[in-house]
Amino acid sequence: MPVDALVVGAAFLFGLLFGSFLNAVIYRVPLGISLLRPSGCPRCEKPISWASNVPVLSWILLRARCATCREPISIRYPLVELAGGVLLALSVWQWGLTISSFSVALFCYLMLVLALIDVDHRILPNVITLPGAIVGLALSFFDPRVAWLDALIGGFLGGGLLYFVAWAYLKLRGREGMGMGDVKMMLLVGSFLGWQGALMTIFVGSLVGSVVGVAMISLSRKGWEYALPFGTFLAAAGVLVAFRGPQIFAWYWNTFAAVG
Ligand SMILES: [Zn+2]
Repeated sequence: MPVDALVVGAAFLFGLLFGSFLNAVIYRVPLGISLLRPSGCPRCEKPISWASNVPVLSWILLRARCATCREPISIRYPLVELAGGVLLALSVWQWGLTISSFSVALFCYLMLVLALIDVDHRILPNVITLPGAIVGLALSFFDPRVAWLDALIGGFLGGGLLYFVAWAYLKLRGREGMGMGDVKMMLLVGSFLGWQGALMTIFVGSLVGSVVGVAMISLSRKGWEYALPFGTFLAAAGVLVAFRGPQIFAWYWNTFAAVG
């Protein structure tokens, strides 16, 4: 279904605004700060005016500094805003103005938030993963992209699989290797992507995580115990699978499974 370029452009602009909100979620939820409070500079706490809160543009115009105290503002803020715009535009481009594009965009936003909270704090908060899983399952009843039964199985299979890995690691090594946060995150991923998408997300996430992990360990010489945020890799894989799941499966099938 071809979607008007104007609609995709509007989705991008709306997405930038959602991106601003995602920045607040990423910063505040792990610290337990209310999302209803007006946003302020983390250092001088001066409320950010409407004019200096325009996504991406304000960051460029203020030359990456707080308007009041000149505290440097990380490039991550405009990048998250951009990601908010790009992810919504891509969803609308692929599925039009439908429940599917809403569902995929919401899923990608949840993945983005979890990925960065995991990088910052090495946690995946229950207040995001558990309600997210329930919303994903609820949406599957209206979303032709994934059958509700696949979503239900996906949640329990994805979460169950990681729970088994965590349990086995604990048994073998005598200490915790993977947190329950990853288990609950897969509950969410499965409920949005179905069991097929959940399996593919674990596969792609583990593969990319291992490659990056080995590279980082050999570069940083921190040794094998250096903990990578696995949730971040699951999140990246989840977004990829949400948009290109069938293509990844077809590619994998044609390359490896169907040979001979
Ligand atoms: Zn400031």
